[in-house]
Amino acid sequence: MQAFLEKMVQKHRPQAGEGKVADYIPELSRQNSAALGVSVYTSNGETFSAGDCSVQYSLQSISKVITLIIALMDWGPEKVFERVGMEPTGNPFNAISDLELYSPKKPLNPMINSGALVVSSMIEGLSVEERLERVLKLVQDMSGNPDIGVDEAVYHSERATGYRNRSMAYFLKEFGVIEDVEATLELYFRQCAISVTCNDLSRMGFCLSRHGENAAGQQVIPRSLARLVKTFMVTCGMYNASGAFAIQVGIPAKSGVSGGIMASVPNRMGIGVYGPALDEKGNSYAGVRLLQDLSREWNLSIF
Ligand code: GLU
Repeated sequence: MQAFLEKMVQKHRPQAGEGKVADYIPELSRQNSAALGVSVYTSNGETFSAGDCSVQYSLQSISKVITLIIALMDWGPEKVFERVGMEPTGNPFNAISDLELYSPKKPLNPMINSGALVVSSMIEGLSVEERLERVLKLVQDMSGNPDIGVDEAVYHSERATGYRNRSMAYFLKEFGVIEDVEATLELYFRQCAISVTCNDLSRMGFCLSRHGENAAGQQVIPRSLARLVKTFMVTCGMYNASGAFAIQVGIPAKSGVSGGIMASVPNRMGIGVYGPALDEKGNSYAGVRLLQDLSREWNLSIF
């Protein structure tokens, strides 16, 4: 496994022109476009890592899986899905124009920005800090790493420039699906800036692959919710390339614009990838190709 991972990192390490680092959040543009790392955590408790796997990067959209779990724990599926739908979209993750056309008036799913803002608004707590603590706690419990925190530079960078998310949140208030817009945005920008390594991400994916039980054997997510969010990962986890990813890789996965991908192979392993040069849909250019090879070589497709 180790040798194969090293070979794959060598093969897929991005060359100039293969993908582009996100720069609409200024701090993200500082990432090294040639970076590529992968960690695998298996059901026999072994870790295999190759490439740039000690680099810290922000969860970005991967945090949408975590907040969805918490909102579902707080409210139950019925209440959550009154405010956000369950259908994939062919539009980009930050699409705004189609919001106006939705009927009923709610975002299509919790993995796009509009849907994730609704989900974050539903997380219970007396203050933004308390709500963020709950998100952090679940990330720490899933990964077994109590030191995980927020990257302040990334948070401030997005907070200062997140005009589109801000517009969307106000639009959603008009829909009646978000109440406190400013608190929601604060939580959203901070959850996106939670900082992890490939190793953390592989253990988080592993926890989902074990139906909510982490590597230490603690059930930190109810089984039914682990199943529900993995289904969203399959249908909506890789932006509007989720269909192609299901066919080419076939593993429940969620990506983020920092270049991270959390993948979860049921009962077998969690995989954490980092490759900040993105393809045109916003997924890690090298990460997707690397996962495709791993899936083929180890026969990982769930289909
Ligand atoms: N914080 C990012 C945004 O809202 C997350 C996007 C993503 O990773 O897809 O634009």
